[in-house]
Amino acid sequence: KRVLITGGTGFIGKILCRELLDKGYDLTVYSRQPSTDVLAVCGRVEATQDLHQLRSHPGFDAVINLAGEGIADKRWSENRKQALRDSRIAVTETLVEVIQSWQAQPEVLVSGSAVGFYGDQGDREVTEATPPHDEFTHRLCRDWEQAALAAAQGGVRVCLSRTGVVAGSGGGFLARMLPPFKLGLGGRLGHGQQFMPWVHRQDVLDALIWMLETPQAQGAYNVVSPAPVTNAEFTRCLGKVLHRPTIFPAPSPMLKLALGEMSTLLLTGQRAMPAKLLAEGYNFNFSELEPALREAVR
Ligand code: NDP
Repeated sequence: KRVLITGGTGFIGKILCRELLDKGYDLTVYSRQPSTDVLAVCGRVEATQDLHQLRSHPGFDAVINLAGEGIADKRWSENRKQALRDSRIAVTETLVEVIQSWQAQPEVLVSGSAVGFYGDQGDREVTEATPPHDEFTHRLCRDWEQAALAAAQGGVRVCLSRTGVVAGSGGGFLARMLPPFKLGLGGRLGHGQQFMPWVHRQDVLDALIWMLETPQAQGAYNVVSPAPVTNAEFTRCLGKVLHRPTIFPAPSPMLKLALGEMSTLLLTGQRAMPAKLLAEGYNFNFSELEPALREAVR
């Protein structure tokens, strides 16, 4: 079976490509980078730098859509917010137009989203049915999801991955946290009581492949571990795994000053539960934080 993937060169995407190749799928990766780089990253794959070129393609069995500028890479100026939106919503709109131009529709579109869909939820438990709080990350994820759901009009099964904070080696948020923590300079963020809906990267990959291969799977899924922790608990656990003290909290006013509105990513959170994945029979590799962090910091 042939799968088209956007975002296939990223922290999640490049390992996903490897797993899909191991499972025998053929891949086409959309990337802005020259195709030789993509081939080096992913091995036995086709690459395209222009989604429009795929209009003449006979079609794919499945599409996975993970493209997006890094949400925590730069301060959220108005220009940056537009780039975060365009790299998700405009890319997804183009992708769906291209899908709709094919004679044979794919069976499934698995498309990215994030727990930021729900906005700041304090300490209440968040399932896929929880009403969102209206803020920038909610509007970003809502419009990204809507753009993907348009493919359902053509009979495509659409699954949305509302992904939590992904822990894995060689990138993601841990790559930024590890240097200070390894020096013993880590600590909680703000009061530390905000929830961090963490998920190990292996579970993200397996949940995405589960959505791809489970004909009944449909709609939005919280892709988070079943054991969300507060930032203070996460901080203590990371210190324990690294054998380092975590006595240097980062005060909220300092983070707000340094990061502006983007500080909401660190200072607010969601006690998100993977209610639908659990109900529909997905088995987690990493349900508890400590083994997940031990694997991720290897
Ligand atoms: P990365 O930042 O590692 O990779 C992002 C990918 O998106 C790259 O492959 C890049 O491809 C592509 N991309 C970036 N900007 C653009 C653009 N302007 N136009 C087209 N493509 C673009 O992300 P992750 O692998 O960590 O995450 C994948 C998705 O999951 C993202 O959309 C992210 O928002 C979401 N997510 C991730 C979480 C995490 O903790 N990692 C948490 C929640 C959601 P190239 O440079 O080759 O063109």
